[in-house]
Amino acid sequence: MNVLVANLGSTSFKYRLYALDGGSARLLARGGFERVTDYGAVIDQAMGELAAAGHKQIDAVGFKTVLGGDITGCLFADESVEKALLDTADLAPAHNPPYAAGIRTFRERLPAVPRVALFETAFYQWVAPAAHRYAVPEAWYKAGIRRYGFHGASHKFMAERSAELLGREDIAAAARNLYLHGPAKNTGAPLRVISCHLGGSSSVTAIRDGVAVATSMGLSPQSGLPQNNRVGDLDSAALPCAMRRLGLTVEEAERQLAKESGLLGLSGVGNDLRDIKAAADRGDARARLAIDALVYSIRHYIGAFWVQLGGCDALVFTAGISENNPWLREAVCENLAALGLELDPAANAAAAPETDLAGKTSRTKILVIPANEELVVARETARLVAARRTNPK
Ligand code: ADP
Repeated sequence: MNVLVANLGSTSFKYRLYALDGGSARLLARGGFERVTDYGAVIDQAMGELAAAGHKQIDAVGFKTVLGGDITGCLFADESVEKALLDTADLAPAHNPPYAAGIRTFRERLPAVPRVALFETAFYQWVAPAAHRYAVPEAWYKAGIRRYGFHGASHKFMAERSAELLGREDIAAAARNLYLHGPAKNTGAPLRVISCHLGGSSSVTAIRDGVAVATSMGLSPQSGLPQNNRVGDLDSAALPCAMRRLGLTVEEAERQLAKESGLLGLSGVGNDLRDIKAAADRGDARARLAIDALVYSIRHYIGAFWVQLGGCDALVFTAGISENNPWLREAVCENLAALGLELDPAANAAAAPETDLAGKTSRTKILVIPANEELVVARETARLVAARRTNPK
């Protein structure tokens, strides 16, 4: 099955075409356009490029949509999905309008090709109310004010892959089929995984038996860990307080929280951890603080989720910050021997992907699993389309 993954930004369109065959996937082509003003034109151009390269067959198009309120999961992207994206655009203004436009354009251009939306919130469908509710008035909850969770595509892949690497094919199979069949009963020992997606945007997810049970993310991706330039957790009183004290409008305060906060706001250096680390190594105190605050927050959530899960069989690291910075993994894992987690310094320095970085006496495995979110979208899209072919409704 050939699946086109469409990655839509507010002014960009990138695509990858995969051939999926059972468990294996092959990248056939990729391309992209910047400064897009007309999605129809660039989608036509992309189809032209693919056809010219001999890739005429597209069996499905997959989209990594962010937030659709109550509409979530991995599902066929019909017009109700387009509407849900527009209805929740206030919380994901950079992502939802381009995805709604992109899905509509594919519907118009390739009406016979199924479109699949894999929501970033999908993995959190089964998080219990105690873990996803904020303690706000009922009317706020009814207006959609709750934790949704994000980076679901990445964390779900970590659930699948960690179970495979730990030899738990039962849990891995259940995790692979989660969006088709819902959570499966685990008849074996529990599998408790804490997954750290640390990149431009970061989150920690607690996973029991292949299903997310808690997330550091909240109503929007501006929560949890300090992000590259977005604030993480923030006391709700801080926003009106800063507006009064600094004379900010709500729009300006929101802009500063979304663009001038996080690692950039703390360090004053930039939003890329490489630059912040270099400055910290030169003795810059604010850069050192940004790193310490990031590590503190990661450990804060690991600790919380360790307790909620009743233990941790594997600590998983993924995405740019996790995969490329042994010093950060070391800082996160420091002094946890009392919990049964010990990093092997040599294995950590070598960091071969998908190998265990834990010391011999560690009860918790430590894995670095490379992120590949386009591939996750392609796989989930193919699973859904294949399931409908087998069992048309
Ligand atoms: P996103 O896809 O969310 O933009 P990534 O997963 O690519 O983010 O992560 C970006 C972060 O990863 C940056 O803070 C950057 O410092 C870090 N990073 C990426 N590559 C490297 C590298 N080779 N060495 C150190 N850090 C890296």
